[in-house]
Parts: sequence; C-alpha cells; structure tokens
Amino acid sequence: MIVGVPKEVDPRERRVALVPDAVGALVGTGIEVVVEADCGLGAGFPDSAYEEAGARIEASADHVLSSEIVLKVQPPGERPGLGHEVDALRSGAVLVGFLRPYDAPELTRQLAERGVTAFAMELMPRITRAQSMDALSSMSTIAGYRAVILAAMALPKMFPMLVTAAGTVSPARVLVIGAGVAGLQAIATARRLGAVVEAYDTRPAVAEQVESLGARFVELDLDTGEAEDAGGYAKAQTEEFYRRQREALGKRLANSDVVITTALVPGQRAPLLIEESAVEAMRTGSVIVDLAAEQQGNCACTDPERTVVAHGVTIIPGSNLPSDIPANASEMYAKNLTTFLKHLAPEGSIVLDLEDEITSGAMLTHEGAIVNDRVKALVEGA
Ligand code: NAD
Repeated sequence: MIVGVPKEVDPRERRVALVPDAVGALVGTGIEVVVEADCGLGAGFPDSAYEEAGARIEASADHVLSSEIVLKVQPPGERPGLGHEVDALRSGAVLVGFLRPYDAPELTRQLAERGVTAFAMELMPRITRAQSMDALSSMSTIAGYRAVILAAMALPKMFPMLVTAAGTVSPARVLVIGAGVAGLQAIATARRLGAVVEAYDTRPAVAEQVESLGARFVELDLDTGEAEDAGGYAKAQTEEFYRRQREALGKRLANSDVVITTALVPGQRAPLLIEESAVEAMRTGSVIVDLAAEQQGNCACTDPERTVVAHGVTIIPGSNLPSDIPANASEMYAKNLTTFLKHLAPEGSIVLDLEDEITSGAMLTHEGAIVNDRVKALVEGA
C-alpha cells in the first residue's frame, strides 16, 4: 500500500497531512509513504525529517497524487501550470481530507466522476469510537486557543488583573458565545490568561463544562426547546428565537472587552447573533473574534477575508486558524488520519466495510457515485 502526501496548493495553508512521526508509524507497519518535496516546510518539518522517518521524497506532484491513497488537508485544487489535482488522482484511489462536502458541489461531482473513493473528514461521525479520528474536534481545539491569542494581541488592555505600585489593572471581560469544542478551549485559554469569562450556548447541557473551567454560564431566559440533536449538535432555532437572543445578549456584549463567537448549526449558515447596532453599543477598542466567519459569521460586520474596525470595535475573522499553528495542527491532524487509515486498513491493505458506521459515515464518493445522501441532494440541487 502506497500513501502519498502532496504539498498543499493554497499558499495560505501551512499545515501538512502527515508529519514525520506519523510517517514513521506507517512505515513501521509496512506501508510505503511518498511525500512531495517541501510539503512540511510551512509547518516546520523539512524533507530530511521525512527521509529519516522512512518516506520517499518526490519532486513531481503527479507521482504523489497518483498514489493508491492520497492524504490532504485542503480539498484538491488547481495547480498553476499543472492542471487540477483531481485529474492526477487514479480511478479507484482513496482520497482523505477536508473536502468541504456542503459547499463544494462541483468538486464532489468531479471526485465521483473520476471514480475516487473520497472520505471527507467533515463527515466523520461524532461518536466515541471515532473520537481519535475526529479532525473537526482537533482543529476546533486549536482554533479556540488561537482566537483568544488574536484577541489578546488586538485588545488595548491586558487580560489579567494586576495590583502594582502604578495602580490596579482590572481584568479583561471575555464573553464566549457557543461552548462547543472551540468555545470550551477559548474559555480555558482566556481563563489561563487571567480574564473574567462568561459563556452562553443554546445547549444547556454544556453549563457544567463551562463552570468547571472557571467561567460563568449565562442564563438568557429563552426557551431553547429540544436544543440538541442525537449527535450532540445544536438544532436550528426559529428566526424569532434568534431575534430574542440578540436582544438578550445586547447588554452583555456592551459590557465585554472581548467577544468570541463560535455558534454553528451543522449544514446551515451560522446564526446572526450580533447586529451592527450591538457592535455600535460596544466600547471603543473592544474585540470580536468570529469563528463562524467561514459560515457567513455570527456578527453582521464580519469580513471573512480581513480584520475590520467597525464603530471602534476590531472584528477579526477566525478563518482557517489551525493553519496559524501549523506544527501542532499538523501533528493532531496526522494522528486523526493515521488512526482512520488503520481503521480502513487494519491488516495493511484497504478493506472497505460499507456496513461500518465510521467508514460509511465519512465516505463522500465511491465507485463513481456520491454516497452521502445529504451531499447528494445538495449537489443535485446545485
Ligand atoms: P459546532 O461547531 O457545530 O457548534 C459550536 C457551538 O455553537 C455548539 O456548542 C452549539 O451548541 C453552539 N450554538 C449553536 N447555535 C447557537 C446559538 N444560537 N447561540 C449560542 N450557541 C450556539 O459544534 P462542535 O463544537 O463541533 O460540537 C458540538 C457538540 O458535539 C459537542 O459539545 C459534543 O457534545 C458533540 N461532540 C461529540 C464528539 C464525540 O463524541 N466524538 C466530538 C465532538 C463533538
């Protein structure tokens, strides 16, 4: 079995799908690994480290992309002068990566037509058995941490309370909206820096986790009904609910120095929780980091491409934050991928058990067809 790791095409992507340690673990089980030259440079892993771990270094992307199994971070894309990466994949090959199943219908169609068996890490079931393969969780952990660091850098104040001969510095007040994986890591990081933290989520079940991290869970006196689905994800609420939520959050926003928003509902645009008028009511110099930026944002003033200052408030889009911490992000992602590979090929060669919840759950295309029903409906409707 040959596993290929190409260099990521997007120049803003610094992660790599396999780090040298992960290569070593695969090679140790008899799997051959071929990596494109310089694939790990952005994350701090030189070719020499891959060579030492037992990988073969290839200068030609085509030779890597034509492997039996191809591991990527970002979806395949256009390579200047070389054509689209999908065209270099072999029919029958296995591709694993973040493939944006809900917003890249054309790519999904191309993968199916090419006869590729594609697994989208976004589709990995959120079940206990798949926890070590859950790249959404590992990357959200990094994004939550990074969001707080970005906020701390942009805020004209410090996070901790200090009592000094030059006076007392009051602690920064941080509000985290959405206490899922990223939100909980943001709470923990802001607490470590000494901020006073409060958090809100439509799922009351997370109150205990929020409090165990030393933050206060905000009660908004809103009827959330059945707040979560069987998978533990938030259910979409009505537009009237969101209107009332915005109203109830208004005062807390105005009292916060930093607001970190992470509220997402799978497969939908992110709920709009901060209108422009609420930004206007915030103190000058306050900071919002919007981790929902790639799903149209929780804040009306968010620009997914750049930091903006609106009404004196700095609004930072949390787009692709794991790429800002590429070494740890690649290590964690590589661990998710190698565990998944072991699941697909327990004896060293791929045996697809289509009855298995993890294999079938993460599968996007197989034998020329789109096999995920929800994505199939989206692609057919596009
Ligand atoms: P997510 O990224 O889809 O959403 C982030 C958070 O936003 C969620 O906590 C959600 O409840 C919250 N949210 C949605 N709408 C909101 C609103 N209007 N106001 C405030 N908050 C809102 O979720 P996630 O972080 O990927 O995971 C959510 C949950 O899924 C976890 O807490 C857990 O219960 C479950 N999960 C299970 C596993 C596992 O068992 N393997 C792994 C990861 C997550």
